[in-house]
Amino acid sequence: GAREADEEVQSVCPYCGVGCQITYKLRDNEIAWVEGAGGPSNENRLCVKGRFGFDYVSSPERLTVPLVRREGAPKGMNIDPGNPWTHFREASWEEALDLAASGLGRLRETRGNRALAGFGSAKCSNEEAYLFQKLVRTAFDNNNVDHCTRLCHASSVAALMETIGSGAVTAPFNAVSESDVIIVIGANPTENHPVAATYFKQAAKRGAQLIVMDPRGQALKRHATHMLQFKPGGDVALLNSIMHVIVEEGLHDEQYIQAHTDGFERMRTHLSRFAPEEMEAVTGIAPDVVRAVARAYAKANAAIVFWGMGVSQHVHGTDNARCLISLALMCGQVGRKGTGLHPLRGQNNVQGASDAGLIPMVFPDYAAVGVEANRAKLEALWDHRLDPEPGLTVVEIVDAIHDGVIRGMYIMGENPAMSDPDASHARAALARLDHLVVQDIFLTETAMFADVVLPASAWPEKEGTVTNTNRQVQMGRKALPLPGEARADWWIVQEMARRLGLGWDYSGPADVFAEMAKAMPSLDNITWERLARENAVTYPCTAPDRPGEAIVFGDRFPNETGLGKFVPAEIVPPDEQPDEDYPFILTTGRQLEHWHTGAMTRRATSLDALEPGPTAGLNPRDIRRFGIVPGDTVRLTTRRGEIELEARADGAVPEGVVFVPFAYVEAAANLLTNPKLDPFGKIPEFKFCAVRVEPA
Ligand code: SF4
Repeated sequence: GAREADEEVQSVCPYCGVGCQITYKLRDNEIAWVEGAGGPSNENRLCVKGRFGFDYVSSPERLTVPLVRREGAPKGMNIDPGNPWTHFREASWEEALDLAASGLGRLRETRGNRALAGFGSAKCSNEEAYLFQKLVRTAFDNNNVDHCTRLCHASSVAALMETIGSGAVTAPFNAVSESDVIIVIGANPTENHPVAATYFKQAAKRGAQLIVMDPRGQALKRHATHMLQFKPGGDVALLNSIMHVIVEEGLHDEQYIQAHTDGFERMRTHLSRFAPEEMEAVTGIAPDVVRAVARAYAKANAAIVFWGMGVSQHVHGTDNARCLISLALMCGQVGRKGTGLHPLRGQNNVQGASDAGLIPMVFPDYAAVGVEANRAKLEALWDHRLDPEPGLTVVEIVDAIHDGVIRGMYIMGENPAMSDPDASHARAALARLDHLVVQDIFLTETAMFADVVLPASAWPEKEGTVTNTNRQVQMGRKALPLPGEARADWWIVQEMARRLGLGWDYSGPADVFAEMAKAMPSLDNITWERLARENAVTYPCTAPDRPGEAIVFGDRFPNETGLGKFVPAEIVPPDEQPDEDYPFILTTGRQLEHWHTGAMTRRATSLDALEPGPTAGLNPRDIRRFGIVPGDTVRLTTRRGEIELEARADGAVPEGVVFVPFAYVEAAANLLTNPKLDPFGKIPEFKFCAVRVEPA
């Protein structure tokens, strides 16, 4: 028949942190179509990316041979990714790996161990992430390893670690089926976590109150009991004013606060200055609305909070998360059914890649590098002395390149030329490196700066585990052969490690997983064999025959005191305020059809057809004011750069604000963004900078 597959392979969607399980339907060694499978996070549901976004794997632009930069070829982005031969020549694996490793090894010798750094990726598996950070820590001999978590939830994790001693979610998003009140703040789940959004909508239909808070409108608004479109940058003021009402009206949970928290009295004093009436000028939200929301959340039997990049990507991102945590703690809305704190994870494996140690200040399972006992444990397992000095973060590494401190890099699957703030600065850094090795499936914008490009594996071409936003560790399976000379990522990392003097001899991902489980107590009772059999197990897991603990911290928090800590947050305004020269506010983000820097989705035929080009979302009134019509070209200029793109009328965007997705190289939003960092999470302020908008 028309719809018959030769073979089926069950795996996980390669895109967002929801981690939907999928079934590849194969015909003639190709994915003919994809169906939703019965995973714990998706129960057979899929969104448009998971269902239709797979043919990037057979794009004619796939890298199928190792590439070496031609003698004298300039480093820059003026290369056609379909025709790399202008700047690169083909090489054998032997030659490419030798060149890649010897270039880094030489810098280690001549410039010292701090001259090297590595970026891993949340698009890779847990095993690949683990191997990559181990390579940096034992072959580069430093902790300069980071990945896109720095650009996404680093501030959330900083706040969570500081207050409750654990950076992961306290409950899966599917817990909303038992919630009375659901808060979604600074997140746009119908676009970015579409299958999670279906659970939110169902809960609202059942009668749960859905409270959405975001300066931009969004599709969930239609299902919301309250939509708080607060002024950009008004988040800390808003959250403090909600907590002010709770304390003022005595709606906080004394019993819970007594038994499980620390620092409430100081918090109470702090909050007295944040009456909603006083804060209205900052938040733009009427006091009676703030009071209604405060009462709904505090009085609910079970309330849960979700947040996204709108919370985290600010210079006060950590403060935003501290407020959300305090809110949950003072109402005892954590550790029970239907309650919790849930930062919605972006990439399909950003939780797992972070857990596996792709973070400069911590080893696998968030063990601080500065703590001797943590080093001793890994030194025994890895048989190697470890650097006690925390490494540099993503943006700090870029600055260290400009300062001449970092001279060589190994980048696996990350695309900083597109994803880093102030992209011109990031691109100039890549061009300055003495030696850059990039391992990827396409000649990404970042790979265009490389000395050696190693052709890697797409997700359906490899085996490996990934961990979704719900802490569910899931098995990804190989469905397709590797194209041409491309190789599995774990194999490439191992070959690099060997050439850098490490005696690695892993037989494959299962072997790596076994070692990883020794380094990571979070994987107790989770084995490769078990995942192969059951497809998904939640961590922490208390016994080999138990499914894992979906809801955690019912009795104590995993820090020294066992108590959740209140950390008061003051108002820290966005770093760059609009002024006469740059009167608009620029905010960036994703859209349903495209994934991050677009490397995969813009090469997926259906997704590219749905959203073929860059757009600037503007309020229709602003468009009229400029005397233009939707579809006309506008020029956006900030202190860092300028792009031109099509104006799109979007009533969800407030007046005075422009929204630009960051997936489009031809109008790269990050040429405009502000690299100023949150001091705690070291995350840049992608969600707010001053911009001039004018007809082009
Ligand atoms: Fe994939 Fe996320 Fe869509 Fe699920 S919701 S199909 S994981 S992109």
